[in-house]
Amino acid sequence: MTRSTDLIHHAYQPPAEFEAPQVGVFKASTVIFPNVAAMRTREWMDKSAYTYGLHGTPTTFTLEERLATLEGGTHCLLTPSGLAAIAHVDFALLKTGDEVLIPDNAYVPNKSLAEGELARFGITHQVYDPLDVNDLAARITERTRLVWLEAAGSVTMEFPDLIALVKLCKSRGVLCALDNTWGAGLAFNAFDLTPEQGELGVDLTIHALTKYPSGGGDVLMGSIVTRSDALARVLKLSHMRLGTGVGANDAEMVLRSLASMPLRYQAQDTAARGLATWCLSQAAFSQVLHPALSASPGHRHWQQLCVTPQNPQGLAAGIFSVVMDARFPAHQVDAFCDSLQLFKIGYSWGGPMSLVMPYNMASSRKRSTGHLQRGRVVRFCIGLEDVSDLQRDILQALNKAGLPS
Ligand SMILES: *Cc1c(COP(=O)(O)O)cnc(C)c1O
Repeated sequence: MTRSTDLIHHAYQPPAEFEAPQVGVFKASTVIFPNVAAMRTREWMDKSAYTYGLHGTPTTFTLEERLATLEGGTHCLLTPSGLAAIAHVDFALLKTGDEVLIPDNAYVPNKSLAEGELARFGITHQVYDPLDVNDLAARITERTRLVWLEAAGSVTMEFPDLIALVKLCKSRGVLCALDNTWGAGLAFNAFDLTPEQGELGVDLTIHALTKYPSGGGDVLMGSIVTRSDALARVLKLSHMRLGTGVGANDAEMVLRSLASMPLRYQAQDTAARGLATWCLSQAAFSQVLHPALSASPGHRHWQQLCVTPQNPQGLAAGIFSVVMDARFPAHQVDAFCDSLQLFKIGYSWGGPMSLVMPYNMASSRKRSTGHLQRGRVVRFCIGLEDVSDLQRDILQALNKAGLPS
């Protein structure tokens, strides 16, 4: 079965004679046991029983099962946000004296967590160049416990040679965790990167369900998925001790949106690619960063992973950035963003409304940015509006800000 069909027809046991398209919302902190023996023997770890709301409900277990299927894993844990999923992985797997390696183009709060809490607990980190496999190889030491991966990277959208990076981690015996928010379990299978040449995959993924799975810009949630029984056990025990569960109403909102995610992802991809291609011809933009464009950094690696015989166009998230020519000062770039009417200024992506955000890359990067043109970066997240309206909006904002079009 294809992923999209599977998301809708995924196994779920409704209450007797209440079969319906949607999963029920089951809410409880307290779960009542029939007797003491049941209280002592019930096992929530394998989802065979319920013990306490924090350990899972029929609603959260169902969402976890569907997400594990979506991403090609076997175990899933829900967290209150995507960032909480990143933090959970760090806290569950790292100890004082360990080192974690993070790509230079990672989701910035991943690095902030390492600089703050992890440093405070005596866990060190290094930032590696995601486009240089040798740079990662040179940074792995006997203290390296975990390598974070992101494909495509945040804001600048470089697509790394994920296969080579994962092979390297395996050969050096370090765990690798992929922030899979961009691919969303649809653009490629993180647990089976080389289906023709035998199984090769990351050890675990995290996913900001806040983005595509929610799809509404109104829910915060994250997930952690793995195929490893041993890792799942470690992650679940930490989850129980840290207490970062999610509410059933939020889980139901994600369940409800999950069925339409493959269609939304495809539509937003098509719209974003159309706009990104058009942006190539705009004089104000010196570079367009979208992995499906041939001149974008890492395009070859995107092609290798995301273009398949079943999907010759490939798949990509509906998000891209432009580099504004360096001759335009920051205030003019800000004026451009302020002049946009349909694109709202805001964080996040994957919702119905298009969003824009200016970035100053110079302040957040440690490794080579030679592949990027100099200038301010503006990120566009494409919603579900008509593409021609979005294009007209960019044109009028360029004009209003005194930029060439
Ligand atoms: C948004 C995002 C996160 C964090 O998700 P939240 O739910 O907002 O905490 C993590 N990684 C990536 C790549 C993201 O885009």
